[in-house]
Amino acid sequence: MVPDPVVPAPQDDKVRWILKSGWRGLCPRCGKGRMFQSWLKIVDRCEACDLDYRFAAPDDGPAFFSLCVVALPLIAFVVWLEVAFEPPIWVHLLTSVPLMALGTVLPLRPIKGWLVASQFVNKAQEAGTGHLWSQLHGTDRGTSDFEQPDRR
Ligand SMILES: [Zn+2]
Repeated sequence: MVPDPVVPAPQDDKVRWILKSGWRGLCPRCGKGRMFQSWLKIVDRCEACDLDYRFAAPDDGPAFFSLCVVALPLIAFVVWLEVAFEPPIWVHLLTSVPLMALGTVLPLRPIKGWLVASQFVNKAQEAGTGHLWSQLHGTDRGTSDFEQPDRR
């Protein structure tokens, strides 16, 4: 198998690459093309290297991580605000409501980018479906969708 020319091999570099390309919404293979065509919609193919994004299936992952990592601490803050100060309702309308709205929506895109980049770098697919994937994607040469052609 030919190693991917861009995605670095050592684990540290992989993680850094996933974080960087996901955060900036760039193609996880070439790092040049855009990953998103709108706020959360993934492009079909990379405009720079023609990477087929059909492998990308983060499903509910972004919402799940957004809730766990961002919304739960925010809820804790809102509860603390209420218990500690018992503020009037307008304080919550001015602080808690916008915080919760932004805190759950803004992280969705970078989290989705990280999940898609992670799927590509780690060649994530359901166990035993490699042959089916290659049939569906018209690359039925016994290769997985993640093995990219040599680009020298
Ligand atoms: Zn690309």
